Amino acid sequence: MKQKTAIIIGITGQDGSYLTEFLLSKNYKVVGMMRKTSAVPSSHIAHLANKIHIAYGDLLDTFSIAETIRSYGPDEIYNLAAQSYPGESWRLAIETAEITGIGAHRIYEAVRYVKPDCRIYQASSSEMFGTPTEVPQNEQTPFAPVNPYGAAKLYAHTMAQIYNTSYKLFIACGILFNHESPRRGVHFLTQKVAYGAACIKLGLLNSPNLNEQGEPIVKDGKIALGNLDAKRDWGFAGDYVEAMWMMLQAEKPDTYVIGTGKVRTVRQLCETAFGCVGLDWQKYVVVDPRFIRLTETGTTVADASKAKTKLGWSPRTSFADMVKMMVDYQIELLKNGKR
Ligand code: NAP
Repeated sequence: MKQKTAIIIGITGQDGSYLTEFLLSKNYKVVGMMRKTSAVPSSHIAHLANKIHIAYGDLLDTFSIAETIRSYGPDEIYNLAAQSYPGESWRLAIETAEITGIGAHRIYEAVRYVKPDCRIYQASSSEMFGTPTEVPQNEQTPFAPVNPYGAAKLYAHTMAQIYNTSYKLFIACGILFNHESPRRGVHFLTQKVAYGAACIKLGLLNSPNLNEQGEPIVKDGKIALGNLDAKRDWGFAGDYVEAMWMMLQAEKPDTYVIGTGKVRTVRQLCETAFGCVGLDWQKYVVVDPRFIRLTETGTTVADASKAKTKLGWSPRTSFADMVKMMVDYQIELLKNGKR
């Protein structure tokens, strides 16, 4: 069988690295499109550097996307690139719209002109549901984003449907709920908690890594968080990238909700993470209003039954195992002086 070529845009991110490993295991030729400022050696794909191809490009620059597609003639493109921090998207509202929203649109246009038979995976998000009218959410649940990130994702999601209908492109959208791993960016809540628990366990009262406010994530032995009652559906990124690939093997482009269907609060996350190192989280976690979102996202929890029925996809990794993986990894990094 002919070897397939996939371009991953956003290869240096959490999902990009897991997807790269997955596609290499399926014998794909993998091309990573990344910004010139991204560094392979320090990224999550460093261990794969000699197995992949790198093309420099930016979602802000349509020609760099078109040229990458022209050079490699891909069968599949996975758009995982974004300004991906919902909480930061008020401060970076225009950048979020440009990269997360119009950036995806630039890919659709480039594909339309250069290689219209190439299949595209678009990373849509549960943040598009914002304050949902029903719980759990499925593919029919109305969208009501409450932050610039959710709005930008909804723009990209809507344009995908329009391009599928108008130009007969194949753009599959995965409405993914929160997914985490040891490779999660350090400003995301789960990673802050995992990192904080690891630092405190190792007796580090002021951490080398800084939070979004430019202060140590662990300061004077405490970690500052926002709304502890916020509820999320947290799954493992390694499980979710397989769903992305499955969507592109389907007969028709479609939209799928991907999540675990289990909801947990930030409190439960803290309890689990600190529990991994035998500590009582209540002694170390403080609430700081600066970390509370301007508008809080509602209770988002996935009804992924369509993905199960149509794609045969189900999550495999439990919440407790995933959190343990993250805390253990942070302890290892700190012991080796890498954080
Ligand atoms: P991530 O770790 O933050 O990775 C984002 C990637 O986007 C990085 O590789 C980054 O590259 C790249 N990027 C940013 N701006 C770019 C630009 N202008 N041009 C090209 N590349 C650019 O995100 P993730 O967690 O892997 O998530 C993957 C995708 O799924 C994102 O679109 C995210 O919004 C979406 N999503 C994530 C979740 C989740 O819970 N993880 C849930 C739903 C949807 P640099 O190295 O240059 O910064």
